[in-house]
Amino acid sequence: MRIFDPHIHMTSRTTDDYKAMHAAGVRALVEPAFWLGQPRTSPASFTDYFDSLLGWEPYRAAQFGIHHYCTIGLNPKEANDPRCTPVLDRLPRYLAKDGVVAVGEIGYDTVTEAEDHAFAAQLALAVEFGLPALVHTPHRDKAGGTRRSLDVVRESGIDPAHVVLDHLNEVTVDEVAGSGCWMGFSIYPDTKMTPERMVAILKRHGTERMLVNSAADWGHSDPLLTRATAEAMLAAGFDEDDVDRVLWRNPVAFYGQSGRLGLDGYNDTQAAGLFAGNSIARGGS
Ligand SMILES: [Zn+2]
Repeated sequence: MRIFDPHIHMTSRTTDDYKAMHAAGVRALVEPAFWLGQPRTSPASFTDYFDSLLGWEPYRAAQFGIHHYCTIGLNPKEANDPRCTPVLDRLPRYLAKDGVVAVGEIGYDTVTEAEDHAFAAQLALAVEFGLPALVHTPHRDKAGGTRRSLDVVRESGIDPAHVVLDHLNEVTVDEVAGSGCWMGFSIYPDTKMTPERMVAILKRHGTERMLVNSAADWGHSDPLLTRATAEAMLAAGFDEDDVDRVLWRNPVAFYGQSGRLGLDGYNDTQAAGLFAGNSIARGGS
């Protein structure tokens, strides 16, 4: 089984997690830029972080045979802090880089005017750079926040096929299904969405435009819940091709729209080569 986790914050995980993920079948992932727990106090802190998402973290992932890509953006929470917003001017330099497969995470946290501004400005950047956009939906007033996010997406003129609305649930999935945008779901151990609830959504809505991730951030989370969802799909009567579609081909198709993924015709031998190549080239231990 090959797994592509389309949204996972590896910065907050250990090498044991990388090892366990590889053993579970994870061969590629996208790490979206987000907040660091401790609030940032200047744009310089963002640029160090973006450089790490493009340099250090892919190197760490490669040691365990996993392809690492990232999304770059000003997250909605810090879009409210005037000490952080000047980073918007530095984004174009990063969006031109090869390992960046989307703009994100963008969207709403508490739905403020400052968030509106950063959201619209970054959708415009996605259009300008021909990149997909990863939109975080707020955890409070999810239905209202999701509707408003879809309005902003429509107003931006971006192709809905280039947009994923993430952290959806049973309440918000219908609205997004009808929009033409992709539907993202974060599977968590005890909040948001479980593997079983995810399977019920796939039964009702099918597997098209569906992305399943573990998010695995600073809170209680589990980077192996993509695999657990695959197992739950099989137990519920989905076949291996359905699992491969949801957990590999869909994320490859979505982020492949960036033209920067290079995973067509991917197989495990390629992953082994990546592992060996990096160890030798970088003199890894
Ligand atoms: Zn996230």
